[in-house]
Amino acid sequence: MMRIGHGFDVHRLVAGRPLILGGVQIPYKYGLLGHSDADVLLHAVADAILGALALGDIGRHFPDSDPAYKDADSILLLDQVVALAESRGYQVGNLDATIVAQQPKLLPYLEQMVNNLAKVCKVSSENINVKATTTEELGYTGRGEGISTHAVVLMTAAG
Ligand code: MG
Repeated sequence: MMRIGHGFDVHRLVAGRPLILGGVQIPYKYGLLGHSDADVLLHAVADAILGALALGDIGRHFPDSDPAYKDADSILLLDQVVALAESRGYQVGNLDATIVAQQPKLLPYLEQMVNNLAKVCKVSSENINVKATTTEELGYTGRGEGISTHAVVLMTAAG
């Protein structure tokens, strides 16, 4: 038994915030704005897992009106989503994500993002892929106004 899910998220880039992607803090002049740590990669992955299980989205499970999630570490949010999936009898099979960012260059950080995702999703890093693309300076990501991420995940019945 397998179920597929898709996630998409965007956060705005602003001064005075750290840039955290896939649990990795990346040196850059801007960071992502959000109620939590605004880790757009982890949010897209969490939404993909919830989507696969027809459990809505992270906004429903972790409302941004709730002070408990102010500046929350999104690794912990994703950990709760993985636990929720486990409680429904599913584990991550494999996942693939694409970060859309004009700057900064993300290649040096992708391996650490994969390792972080593998750990929280409790799978081997061979089952996780994270890639990055620019949009050739087109659109809001191309102008550097924000960073978005697309993710797809295949969930498999545990055991
Ligand atoms: Mg988000």
